[in-house]
Amino acid sequence: MKLFCPECKNNINVDDPSEIEEGSIIECNTCGVTLEVTSINGERVDLEVIDEGK
Ligand SMILES: [Zn+2]
Repeated sequence: MKLFCPECKNNINVDDPSEIEEGSIIECNTCGVTLEVTSINGERVDLEVIDEGK
């Protein structure tokens, strides 16, 4: 599973991929934005920025 931050385009490390599902809230560890998982299609995970952080 590969997650890319739509804000900074960096790869996001996921400690436990089994916890990633539609509606999951994760944080980009590079730029700090809060992201919601909007859809999952196999290896492709779409993320939406819901909080731009600081
Ligand atoms: Zn980011």
